[in-house]
Amino acid sequence: MQPETGSLPNLVGSDLNEIESAIAAMGEAPYRARQIYAGIYRRCNRSWADFTDLGKDLRGRLSERFSISLPRLDCTFASGDGTRRYLFEVSPGMKIESVFIPEEKRDTICISTQVGCAVGCLFCVTGRLPMRRDLSAGEIVGQVLALRADRSVPSKRLNIVIMGMGEPLHNYDNVMKAIRLMADPEGLSISPRRITLSTSGVVPGIEALAAEPLIPNLAISLNATTDEVRDQLIPVNRKWNIAALLEACRRFPLEKRRRITFEYVLIDDVNDSPEDAHRLAALLKGLKKKINLIPLNADPWLRLKAPSESRILAFQEILIGHSITAYIRRPRGADVSAACGMLAGREHARGDLVHLPPRPAKPFTADRSRL
Ligand code: SF4
Repeated sequence: MQPETGSLPNLVGSDLNEIESAIAAMGEAPYRARQIYAGIYRRCNRSWADFTDLGKDLRGRLSERFSISLPRLDCTFASGDGTRRYLFEVSPGMKIESVFIPEEKRDTICISTQVGCAVGCLFCVTGRLPMRRDLSAGEIVGQVLALRADRSVPSKRLNIVIMGMGEPLHNYDNVMKAIRLMADPEGLSISPRRITLSTSGVVPGIEALAAEPLIPNLAISLNATTDEVRDQLIPVNRKWNIAALLEACRRFPLEKRRRITFEYVLIDDVNDSPEDAHRLAALLKGLKKKINLIPLNADPWLRLKAPSESRILAFQEILIGHSITAYIRRPRGADVSAACGMLAGREHARGDLVHLPPRPAKPFTADRSRL
């Protein structure tokens, strides 16, 4: 059962067993729980009145005991490229964001897992915010339900990327429960092959994920080819360095035709040299992989900038020369602060981080001549 929303316990985020127990306590048969479960996750019902397969009397008794509440939507921001940023308030003063990215064949929903983030990556505006709290499983899966209903997207057309605010593996249990709810054929029915979890490199979390019966796609936010640079860009590297991280990746079980995605945010004069590209190819040798090159999305809250187009293309060329699949990911929704690394609970399309005091932005200080 999820934490209480308002005065009633919230069933969004509960699995079938939990709903069965709640319903049994009311003296109802288990098949009623399956009807409620399908109503919440498959049909995205919003109120007890929508559960037309339940009798009026039962609906009335359920509404006195339980809510089916999604995160409260504050506002949305529509980008010129069709991307849409959603700002939710999950509890007073605590805002999170999700992003809907329409694509030709499938649409993508990017969801958050924490309010703020403790990792503090130098290239990410979320990393400038203090960590406030983990999201519950209901708040995580609730973002998918809310966006899916708002955009009228069938589950078959959806990719889910767990790449929004927060480090998912710092909120392991709730994230895994949300993934199980998303993937359940009786519920949202999104194939695990269509769900991607991105981590900054929390090695014990990757190892725990590897032992799960249901494993989503794994994406690693790598972004550097030396520990000197990665220590600064992603402080979690000081605990689990590149060698430890890649060792965990080599042990990660991959089904046929599945591979690990390595994300590499390209930052001018920090990690974008030809030597970096060659080193990246050598580091990832032997791994089943693809690389997403993401030119940094500049933001007033970051003290870094994107490389020139020619440097981006040259970096990709070197990787392709090593027979590596490497895509350049162009930003989506940057005009409304919805692109990768820009999520910060902003109440305007661009501008201040108004609801939380930001951490000071650290400049990148590595002496490039040493690297
Ligand atoms: S990139 Fe991810 S892990 Fe790093 S600060 Fe941003 S939200 Fe946190």
